[in-house]
Amino acid sequence: MGGELAFIDRVRRLAGEPPAGQVWIGDDAAVIDGDLLFATDALVEGVHFDLSWSSAQDVGWKALAVNLSDLAAMGGTPRAAVAAIVVPPGRPGLADEVARGLVEGSRRWSCPLVGGDTVQGLELAVTVSVVGVPSAGGAVLRSGARVGELVFVTGEFGGAAAALRLFQDREARIASEGLTGASVAELGERLRRPEPKLGAGRAAAAAGASAMIDCSDGLAVDLARLCHASGVGVRVEASLMPTAIGATLDDALHGGEDYELCFTARDAARVKRAFDHHGLAAPRAIGRLRAGSLDLVMADGAVIPLPEWGWEHKVR
Ligand code: ADP
Ligand code: MG
Repeated sequence: MGGELAFIDRVRRLAGEPPAGQVWIGDDAAVIDGDLLFATDALVEGVHFDLSWSSAQDVGWKALAVNLSDLAAMGGTPRAAVAAIVVPPGRPGLADEVARGLVEGSRRWSCPLVGGDTVQGLELAVTVSVVGVPSAGGAVLRSGARVGELVFVTGEFGGAAAALRLFQDREARIASEGLTGASVAELGERLRRPEPKLGAGRAAAAAGASAMIDCSDGLAVDLARLCHASGVGVRVEASLMPTAIGATLDDALHGGEDYELCFTARDAARVKRAFDHHGLAAPRAIGRLRAGSLDLVMADGAVIPLPEWGWEHKVR
């Protein structure tokens, strides 16, 4: 990850500063001229998925979902997507299956697939780009968090990481963790078919969220990114982390791929009202922003530095 972060920093310097009112490299989506949100993300076979546990249709679905998750993290609403598919030779029907998954997602999330590209390559890869529009109050950036505010998370964490472990060592895990068939299937869906939290993103924006990020790499590292972008510290309570059935605290903090949202806001009652109004479960407050360091309070009361590491694409 260090290499990737340093590279992104070099690209940011090369690309230069955006004009006033725009946001370029460094947030979940860019905010460009006319207040449009603009983002892209790629899924590559052997790095992000394996066709032994994911269908090509799932891959199409997920390629769109992870992009829409970045729009959700800005409090935005999708408008359109394009998809470039790299198709390996000798695997007929694969691209059609991917397209079916893309279109299934595009209907579900009201984000029409309006273009793309199809090229030959060594492995299956799907790159999606999306545009969207922010909520009335403007895009929610990573950088707006202030000392004293609460840290909220949507949904449950660690399910996707637990599913990946199950897929990689299936029989042993199911036996040792005592999971039922239904919970194994549910975990698998979290990894194969994540749901972008578009409604929650808009509810958070309506509740006056000061900063937001989607948890693609792991709650700990993604919350740390939000804190660094905002210049604040945090104290997170491990005991308050909503953890998926079958997942460990490590999965929940560092697993990634859950595509839940983490946001900061001052007024817990207003947050609850906004989520109620959207017909959504209230997000969980897991900590508070403060000046200084990023800390994690363990269940036994021990305080440790928030470990800033996460998902490193362990598929291959
Ligand atoms: P996310 O997980 O939200 O998609 P990433 O960690 O992939 O974000 O990227 C972090 C930031 O760096 C984003 O603003 C993204 O647009 C930018 N970025 C990543 N790779 C590149 C690249 N090759 N060129 C320009 N910007 C990039
Ligand atoms: Mg993101």
